[in-house]
Amino acid sequence: QMRVRYAPSPTGHLHIGGARTALFDYLIARKHAGQFIIRFEDTDQTRHVESGIGNQLEGLNWLGLNWDESVDVGGPYAPYRQTERLDLYQPFVDQLLQNGDAYYCYCSEADLEQERAEQEAKGEMPRYSGKCRQIQPDLLEKYKAEGRKPSIRFRVTENRVIAFDDRIREHVEFESNGIGDFIIVRPDGIPTYNFAVILDDHLMKINLVIRGEEHLSNTPRQIMMYEALGLPIPEFAHLSLILNPDRKKMSKRDESIIQFIQQYKELGYLPEAVLNFIVLLGWSPKGEEEIFTKEELIEQFDLDRVSKSPAVFDMDKLNWMNNHYLKKAELSRVVELSLPHLQKAGLIPEELGAEQQEWVTRLIGLNQERMQYAAEIVPLSALFFQEDVSYEEEEAKALLTEEHVPVVLQGFLNEVAQAESFAVENIPAMLKAVQKATGFKGKQLFMTIRVALTGQTHGPDLNMTVFLLGKAKVISRLNKLL
Ligand code: GLU
Repeated sequence: QMRVRYAPSPTGHLHIGGARTALFDYLIARKHAGQFIIRFEDTDQTRHVESGIGNQLEGLNWLGLNWDESVDVGGPYAPYRQTERLDLYQPFVDQLLQNGDAYYCYCSEADLEQERAEQEAKGEMPRYSGKCRQIQPDLLEKYKAEGRKPSIRFRVTENRVIAFDDRIREHVEFESNGIGDFIIVRPDGIPTYNFAVILDDHLMKINLVIRGEEHLSNTPRQIMMYEALGLPIPEFAHLSLILNPDRKKMSKRDESIIQFIQQYKELGYLPEAVLNFIVLLGWSPKGEEEIFTKEELIEQFDLDRVSKSPAVFDMDKLNWMNNHYLKKAELSRVVELSLPHLQKAGLIPEELGAEQQEWVTRLIGLNQERMQYAAEIVPLSALFFQEDVSYEEEEAKALLTEEHVPVVLQGFLNEVAQAESFAVENIPAMLKAVQKATGFKGKQLFMTIRVALTGQTHGPDLNMTVFLLGKAKVISRLNKLL
């Protein structure tokens, strides 16, 4: 029975890196008919925890990664939040203390600071010296009398190698001499991440741990504790870093890429596109095809095809992919995503009449192929809302100086002015009539009218563009140029 978990520290919104871990967890669980568990590691953080839990779940839910066990749905190994599990850890602390695999440490911050400074001065890697391993009884009494609260440290065996076979990084070795005795329970009685994580993974029967590479150096510490407690060790899969487009380590402050799932939702990306993009951050499919539904991914995904080298985040590719999905989406769905953006921009009212609704639906339909994400409807359709249009595009400006222009525009103006119906079906006939009357056709006819009405040489369907602009705007724009 495959049991995998995503174990975020609930400090904020779901980040693209966390989403990738969760997605890989999800795909593995579904592929093997196992369980996907979400557990919150909230022992380190005091701030934003409540909203952080909600935000994480909301992001996962939006991506369509449903889970089997967590704080909201419960499960056989509840609670799923570490601060509610503190009682469960005590027997393991006792076992380690009794066996001599852990000990009380009374060193104060100042003591440790001094030790670090001395080691650095000698050019050594700073690590805890193990000073409290054999604390003198009189000193112990003194500290106790002073009311000092000890932390508990794990005793690391010297001169050994901790080796494991990672599903992605393959054979990995660490020397124990590089690892100082580390704290497993803080003076306030709260276990540290490294300790709580192994106990929860054990108690929740997790057999595969998928997480970011930044945790690789924690793994030997965790393995030593599993061994000391005589617990089975799960398999590990450490995912490579995600790099910025400039191949630098992604920093949460970098604004050149969108990093939080919530932002994608707000900008009107489609969850299936974001999901498809994220899976390719490290995983490569067998063939050339890069577009996959969730169901296809469940079938095809495998850790064997996850790369050890870093993934590079390519925003253009994400936009291309989202555009690909938007083009194929139902218009009603694209409308639903786009409307709030037009409303927020103050271009259309909150309440729409039937006619307005139809007009705006067509406007969105007109731009559906071009949008990378729904918020782009605002710049893409701005010219339908403005009174005047500006002619700044070089090619457009040049075209407007050509000799045929006044003839074509006047011809079109005549047609529009006398048109009885401005229905979209009638526009082609009007253009045909201009062609007949002026003798201009093709680019000289269509491009001229397009530029006159939109200021752009390229754009979506001309007939629909003319229709959606409406008679009044068309006449006024033609008049201004003539
Ligand atoms: N709480 C840790 C994190 O958010 C989880 C690491 C792990 O999966 O073991 O990075």
